[in-house]
Amino acid sequence: MSETYDVVIIGGGPGGYNCAIRAGQLGLKVACVEMRGKLGGTCLNVGCIPSKALLHASEMYEAARTEFAGMGIETGELSINLEQMMSQKSDAVDGLTKGVEFLFKKNKVDYIRGKGRIAGAGKVVVEGEDGEQELATRNIVIATGSEVTPLPGVEIDETRVVSSTGALDLEKVPGKLVLIGAGVIGLELGSVWRRLGAEVTVVEYLDRILPGMDGELAKTAQRTFAKQGFDFHLGTKVTGVDTSDDTTLKVTVEPAAGGDAQTLEADTVIVCIGRRPYTDGLGLETVGVETDARGFIPNDHFQTSSENVWVIGDCTHGPMLAHKAEDEGVACAERIAGKAGHVNYGIIPGVVYTSPEIASVGKTEDELKAEGRKYKKGKFPFQANSRARTNHTTDGFVKILADAETDEILGAHMIGVNVGEMISEVCLAMEFRAASEDVARTCHPHPTLSEAVRQAAMGVEGWTMQA
Ligand code: FAD
Ligand code: NAD
Repeated sequence: MSETYDVVIIGGGPGGYNCAIRAGQLGLKVACVEMRGKLGGTCLNVGCIPSKALLHASEMYEAARTEFAGMGIETGELSINLEQMMSQKSDAVDGLTKGVEFLFKKNKVDYIRGKGRIAGAGKVVVEGEDGEQELATRNIVIATGSEVTPLPGVEIDETRVVSSTGALDLEKVPGKLVLIGAGVIGLELGSVWRRLGAEVTVVEYLDRILPGMDGELAKTAQRTFAKQGFDFHLGTKVTGVDTSDDTTLKVTVEPAAGGDAQTLEADTVIVCIGRRPYTDGLGLETVGVETDARGFIPNDHFQTSSENVWVIGDCTHGPMLAHKAEDEGVACAERIAGKAGHVNYGIIPGVVYTSPEIASVGKTEDELKAEGRKYKKGKFPFQANSRARTNHTTDGFVKILADAETDEILGAHMIGVNVGEMISEVCLAMEFRAASEDVARTCHPHPTLSEAVRQAAMGVEGWTMQA
């Protein structure tokens, strides 16, 4: 048995590794247990980072194919070297996971490789390559993340019927790709393979894409993706995938509300209907922690129902996002150190890294209407933004919602090139409970896409000047 830790964190994803680094900074004796063989969790290894590496590369390919000539850039015949595209993706992942190891050393975090399980109050047992070791600790943080939600009747083999993990590693560009689910993963990974040449069909159970996002944003996004070639089957469910033929998969679909079945043919099917919390074999029962009906571990300011057992990230409630897990990790470490750790759940931005990007923070119009809250809206199209026109990227808009009486910004919803970067300005404004007028009267550099945010903010009070 080692000397007693102040905190042992189970899981080395964005929740766990940021919690560990912050705990180290605060002078706590900390260990982080990770079973994957690499730090960084889903995000660095099979999520945010590899998907963005492929989104960036495929976007450059599409720009070279469709936009370069119009800008006076002539190339020879273009081709794709998928192996190289995958290898630059792996380089990005490897560099970043090693970076987390470096940060652990810098902040005196013990990195313990193996599968961790709670073995009663203050005890974590780690099953590593060299056998088991027991860690004694004052606090345990559960940061075990999430896994792909399976679809009953559809077996994921990670070669032809894949989850996001397999979809990040396909050996060739599919001719026909069927996506089950029009959420964030479907649209991002569907975009990657469409740009590289796949014909993409999306089967979505609901009658809209991107559930939870602002309705106007989702409608505009759907139109834009349809123009790019996505074939959407909304209000439709998959009832099975027949894999008996060696070359063609047969996907059976039918209207969600019931009706005649139809068969779609595909080379590859991506199952992307969401993720579920991962708490397998964690020994929760040894400390009396229960999960809810969907498998999430409930928390009150990161504390579980068991004293000194904490939970953060995808395995507890809230959006399954890396930056949410990170913020919880930081605040949880601060609470363990006796400080006032806090996460503002009203201001967690969401970004879909398609082209154009989609970004949201705060309340949607649908939510404000449902709450009966009176709000004003300012909207500005990129069509009227000088930089967007110069760059020929005029699709999309910025929308800002503010309280009708106080003018406090309540939400912002954007679609357009680079809005994933631009949303942070509104997040900061909202953290300071800024009024739309504060943003409207802040000098923005010209010519930038971010001027669209200012013009939309002006629009809340009806004085948009450039449209
Ligand atoms: P995870 O990152 O899942 O990490 C948990 C870690 O715990 C894992 O490494 C796992 O191996 C380890 N673990 C589990 N059980 C044990 C155990 N018993 N012992 C030891 N180790 C254990 N989010 C964004 O914000 N932006 C994006 O662009 C984005 N893109 C994504 C793209 C894809 C394809 C996917 C799948 C997800 C994406 N996400 C994105 C979501 C993001 O990856 C997750 O929200 C985030 O990783 C959650 O962090 P976490 O620390 O809670 O869990
Ligand atoms: P999601 O929840 O975003 O979307 C799943 C979609 O599948 C929904 O539209 C849902 O209505 C649909 N669906 C559910 N069951 C279905 C069925 N049986 N048939 C057809 N459609 C069905 O989930 P995801 O896209 O799998 O992503 C998982 C998680 O990963 C999300 O929580 C997301 O936040 C995170 N993620 C984030 C990013 C990002 O921030 N850019 C990128 C990728 C993933």
